[in-house]
Amino acid sequence: PYSGPEYDHVRKVRGDNLNPALVTHFKKPLLIHSGHMQWLFDHTGKRYLDLFGGIVTVSVGHCHPKVVAAVTDQMNKLWHTTNIYLHPKIHEYAERLTKTLPGDLKVVYFVNSGSEANDLAMLMARLYTGNFDIISLRNAYHGASPYTLGLTAHGTWKYNIANGFGVHHASNPDPYQGIWGGYRDSPVQSTRANESTVVDGVCSSSEKYIGQLEEVIKYSIPKGKVAAFFAESIQGVGGGVQFPLGYLKKAFDLVRANGGVCISDEVQSGFGRTGEHFWGFEGHGVVPDMVTMAKGMGNGFPLAAVVTTPAIAQTMSHALHFNTFGGNPMASAVGLSVLETLEEDKTQENCRVVGTYFLQELAKLRDEYPIVGDVRGKGLMIAMEMVLDKDSRTPLDATTMMEIWDSCKEHGVILGRGGFYGNVFRIKPPMCITQADVDFTVSVLRHVLEQTIN
Ligand code: PMP
Repeated sequence: PYSGPEYDHVRKVRGDNLNPALVTHFKKPLLIHSGHMQWLFDHTGKRYLDLFGGIVTVSVGHCHPKVVAAVTDQMNKLWHTTNIYLHPKIHEYAERLTKTLPGDLKVVYFVNSGSEANDLAMLMARLYTGNFDIISLRNAYHGASPYTLGLTAHGTWKYNIANGFGVHHASNPDPYQGIWGGYRDSPVQSTRANESTVVDGVCSSSEKYIGQLEEVIKYSIPKGKVAAFFAESIQGVGGGVQFPLGYLKKAFDLVRANGGVCISDEVQSGFGRTGEHFWGFEGHGVVPDMVTMAKGMGNGFPLAAVVTTPAIAQTMSHALHFNTFGGNPMASAVGLSVLETLEEDKTQENCRVVGTYFLQELAKLRDEYPIVGDVRGKGLMIAMEMVLDKDSRTPLDATTMMEIWDSCKEHGVILGRGGFYGNVFRIKPPMCITQADVDFTVSVLRHVLEQTIN
């Protein structure tokens, strides 16, 4: 399938006429023609199980019939008004969306991408607090716009220009590869897949990571002048890193005590993906001051938002604020039908049940194969970290990672990749996958791992 007039032409145009920094997955990239629920179909009609949901953007399923019907209906009525008029859809959607959030998180700013949402959250945090300095975690990904490129803390995405003015990176509380480790020696590790999160106390180094954050606040920022702290509930691009339970709560307390607001980036972990909760931060027992969301929010349609409190939102009203496409009728129709579908299809419960089963099955692979170092996650936000051996935890080399990745694809399973060292397979499928899909994936993985180690 990796040649022929159509395939060759597309590759040529990609080389000649498209952004040369585009990420293209796989040595022999796929030419995708269509999608249905958890499946993608290439130009030859071959079917693939999409465990990466087109980079986590597909929540309820590719071309879910209900979402397609909602957007088609809207397209026949009105494509676009800006928010300078009243239109029922954006209001219906804002009301419904804010009902999913706790506390005083009641005011929505609709935008079009995750980077835009985080840009706006940075701006609002600075305006509201009157402070400038912002903290994010090392290994975080929060966007690629000039502003958010500073929050993003990995050289893979950086350019050699000034970025991140006023942003500080605190040490990543990564219990597997972090500088202090955590459950390295803990016997609990082998049963972690049964746990819904890192159990309090398992990460013995949690306090050290909090201490390092405290140092950043104390020594890198003017006294009491923090503007904001950004974190995901489970790191996405960063490789499914799960923070020790208790870390985020303590971090939020510290940041607030020093003048800052706390921002949860739920671009990947929101909308029920973690299974037990609709929002990932709820699993940490915290209520943020702002929540940013995108990707699965629109099931693939460009739609994103910042939700915050009335008091914080008010700071933007000192000037006019305008976003041409933010919350347009089509985006709002899609967002609304995604929320309805999540409820009707009991998607969050599916994430909990199928995700837990997935973790348990992958944990068996971890126990069988020396190169499967760690299996972690929650619901359908899963990561499998590959190593040379379990003792050293040295990241598996890029060539072997690529071989495994490509080979799974040839057998019909599309995985994601990421992590600080690029050695983590990421599993964040459309949230409608079934137990049979898990069994298929695990048998493909077992076959490919067997070939790899022999
Ligand atoms: N935040 C997180 C956690 C993300 O994973 C991403 C995208 N990978 C973004 C923000 C940026 O979103 P976008 O690509 O829509 O700008």
